[in-house]
Amino acid sequence: MQIEFLGATREVTGSCFLLHVGNHKLLVECGLVQGSRQHEQKNSDPFPFEAEEIDAIILTHAHLDHSGRLPLLVKRGYTGPVYTHNATADLCAIMLQDAGYLNEKEAQWENKKRERKGLELVEPLYTRDEARDALKLFNGLDYGLQQEILPGVKVTLRDAGHILGSAIAEVQLAEGEHSAKVVFSGDLGHKGAPILCDPEAIAHADLVVMESTYGDRMHRSWDDTWPEMGDIISNAKSAKGNILIPAFTVGRTQELLYAFKSNFEAWGIGDWEVFLDSPMGIEATEVYTKHTKIYDEHAQELNHRDGSPFDLPNLHLSRDTQDSMSINQLKSGAIIIAGSGMCTGGRIKHHFKYNIWRERAHILIVGFQARGTLGRALVDGTKHIRLWGETMQVKAKVHTIGGLSAHADQQGLLDWYGYFQGSPRVALVHGEAGAMEVLAGKLRLDYDADVLLAEFGQKLEL
Ligand SMILES: [Zn+2]
Repeated sequence: MQIEFLGATREVTGSCFLLHVGNHKLLVECGLVQGSRQHEQKNSDPFPFEAEEIDAIILTHAHLDHSGRLPLLVKRGYTGPVYTHNATADLCAIMLQDAGYLNEKEAQWENKKRERKGLELVEPLYTRDEARDALKLFNGLDYGLQQEILPGVKVTLRDAGHILGSAIAEVQLAEGEHSAKVVFSGDLGHKGAPILCDPEAIAHADLVVMESTYGDRMHRSWDDTWPEMGDIISNAKSAKGNILIPAFTVGRTQELLYAFKSNFEAWGIGDWEVFLDSPMGIEATEVYTKHTKIYDEHAQELNHRDGSPFDLPNLHLSRDTQDSMSINQLKSGAIIIAGSGMCTGGRIKHHFKYNIWRERAHILIVGFQARGTLGRALVDGTKHIRLWGETMQVKAKVHTIGGLSAHADQQGLLDWYGYFQGSPRVALVHGEAGAMEVLAGKLRLDYDADVLLAEFGQKLEL
């Protein structure tokens, strides 16, 4: 038996691991590479295996860096099952179709230019229809139930607490007399995060394949983060401007609505009109609303007592462009949540156009902003931005709330590993080299662990 590391090795995207058991091949994750344009070109490369050779796939959660290459694998001949949590299957239905749609748009745009230049036309990575073909292969599971998915392969999903439906995959392998258990952490959540349960502790493994995104960093505590957000909203009310919140549509958007409902009186949310200006955010919220039985205790209570924890009496859902445009007339009293999370596209840019030059407006940055994005420029205090060829001054107040993260920090990762008995061998993945090295050092020091920093193409016997 063997594991091959085929993605998210010394980087945070493109997760992909291949298990060989007897005559069978099992893939865990099939994620998109994300980042610079040049880096993303890799997504259309051949897979380092034949699509038809794979017998089954396990998917830990819906984020595209874990799931986004699945439709391409299906397009290239994969016809087997995809095992994942039920909520992940529902979220993938939204996210993979959206990815397909964006691929089509991007190819159309590129081909217009190519046609004018007389160059060969490009094909989208996959289309919306091809994403739908992949979705037909999904098999939804619940947490905690062991299922035999291939001869000699049993899988149990445990709650990873990262986004709705996110899972740690416990994979029990057997070949003749020989057996081994591999635990894939997937992405581990930030303990104490709203809505979701904390990452589940697991006692046994022969090999732990573990993420290391924040292996070198600690987050601000929740006890500091929530009052900070409450203060900003309360203070903005006296300034009488709008509050613009760029937010990732799956996860962060729902956390914001949940925080608003939980603190409705304390933060004076009733004095505002709240707009969720994102069709995908609305659909993702519907999926969150459906899967109440995997909420944490507090969210279950809130749901039981007051109905959906994302529903506010003053919440407006803007699905079509007309709804979105009508918000532009509001000069004060609106809290607007819109994508994209790093302000690189989406409706948030339109709201910037109408608000960013106003002194009374507020921009609340609640998520990670990568270098080179408009969101990052705002965090770094830029005084001017360019939107659709027009230069605008930034007069709005930009607030950055650092404590909201969907990932465990260094202590969270160490604590999760610490639950395993007997310090099993650990392979670090899904992290920049620096973060991995710091975490590896800690794991060796605190737990005397045998740590591997996985390299692309590396194979380990199990
Ligand atoms: Zn993730």
